[in-house]
Amino acid sequence: MTQPSVTIVGAGIVGLTCAYKLQQQGFAVTIVDREGPCAGASFGNAAHMAIASIFPQSVPGIAGQSWRMLRDRRGPLIANPAYVLQHLPWFLKFLRLGNADAAARGTHVMSQLLSRAWEHWNPVLRDIGATHLVRQTGALHVFGSRQAMQNSHGAYLKRQQLGVECRVLGVEEAREMEPALTEHIAGAVHIPAMGHVTDTRQLCQALADRVTANGGRLLHQQVTAIRNDGVQTTEAFLPSSQVVLAAGAWSARFARELGVGVPVVSERGYHVRLPKNASTLRTPVLLVENKVALTPMQDGLRMASVAEFTHPDAAPYHDRAAFVFQGLERWVSGVDATPETRWVGPRPSTPDSRPIIGRSPAMPNVLLAYGHGHLGLSLGGLTGSLIAELATGQAPSIDLSWLSPTRRLGKTGTPV
Ligand SMILES: Cc1cc2nc3c(=O)[nH]c(=O)nc-3n(C[C@H](O)[C@H](O)[C@H](O)COP(=O)(O)OP(=O)(O)OC[C@H]3O[C@@H](n4cnc5c(N)ncnc54)[C@H](O)[C@@H]3O)c2cc1C
Repeated sequence: MTQPSVTIVGAGIVGLTCAYKLQQQGFAVTIVDREGPCAGASFGNAAHMAIASIFPQSVPGIAGQSWRMLRDRRGPLIANPAYVLQHLPWFLKFLRLGNADAAARGTHVMSQLLSRAWEHWNPVLRDIGATHLVRQTGALHVFGSRQAMQNSHGAYLKRQQLGVECRVLGVEEAREMEPALTEHIAGAVHIPAMGHVTDTRQLCQALADRVTANGGRLLHQQVTAIRNDGVQTTEAFLPSSQVVLAAGAWSARFARELGVGVPVVSERGYHVRLPKNASTLRTPVLLVENKVALTPMQDGLRMASVAEFTHPDAAPYHDRAAFVFQGLERWVSGVDATPETRWVGPRPSTPDSRPIIGRSPAMPNVLLAYGHGHLGLSLGGLTGSLIAELATGQAPSIDLSWLSPTRRLGKTGTPV
């Protein structure tokens, strides 16, 4: 019997976990990336295993909140008007989903997905020898004002109800747990189930190394077209029995031919890396009101934030993003140090914040694994498992209609 083959477009965290899982199922694997492993969002994310991020981005009140944030010239939301106009249906769908019913359905689905995150990551991490790159020691959501902390009380209760343990901490308790927090914070919530990756590039590289060590191919080429029997690159046609599209925000350019109904836009984020000795922070932190994540990495402190809706390959807007990282030393000591590096990259975002995982309606040999928005690192392990199940014809371990490429994005939300 001939060995089944698969070509994977994209060597980000999602493409690499798919490659790893498919190889385990006996596929001859070829991964194609225009730049090499970990070139996109998977390198620069906040590196949180964000088990508590169960709420979709579009929630009741999102229209007013977005408008206020857009008018704040130093805030974390940026929109390129031409890009917004070009992708207007995405933004209209996103705003329509900002109602209680849709948000409740979305929260249910996201909590189901995230509750499986560790069980799908842990065996992979052990097998590729990468457990030292991931710390499962929880995270802190930190508040600068009592009012904001009170306002979010319901959201933490909801998390608790859905099985995500949340411990509310006073100022002193929070500072005992994380001495780099200053006395100006109003309090924090500790989420023990969260974790973080200490080197995102090494994690991707460990996956890529394992796949190539086991006979997989990693090609440095740009894919120009996807077909039912393989992919066309700038250099060759690569035939294979199945194809996986995992090119993050860049996947959108292939969506029409593949019959995908759920749109994806590029929501770029930024990070700055502070020198290793700048701050003593050892716990991953989310500064809730500022919308900034701080993560102690092997090479220094990473501060990540910003949602900039624009073309994924547009010139970076670092000077604008820099405002968002200013003034944070009021909450965390040492974070006013001069950054050593700056980075920008695109989240592949859907209107309902759920990834697209399923078969292409137009080309049944093509599997879709993109649109992970703010959660691709956390959901990478699960996505790899789901794609392997699809490729081998096994019954899916979750209801894939939730993530279907043709799911309805109506006002009452998408299927649960
Ligand atoms: C600032 C920021 C913070 C984030 N924080 C978190 C977090 O804390 N936790 C979390 O879970 N998630 C987080 N995310 C989201 C997460 O990073 C993404 O969801 C995830 O990286 C998407 O992975 P991917 O493999 O789908 O895409 P990418 O990592 O973007 O990879 C896509 C790959 O496809 C390649 N490619 C594109 N076009 C082509 C082509 N035509 N031919 C060949 N190759 C191509 C690219 O070179 C790239 O390597 C964050 C994102 C950002 C930007």
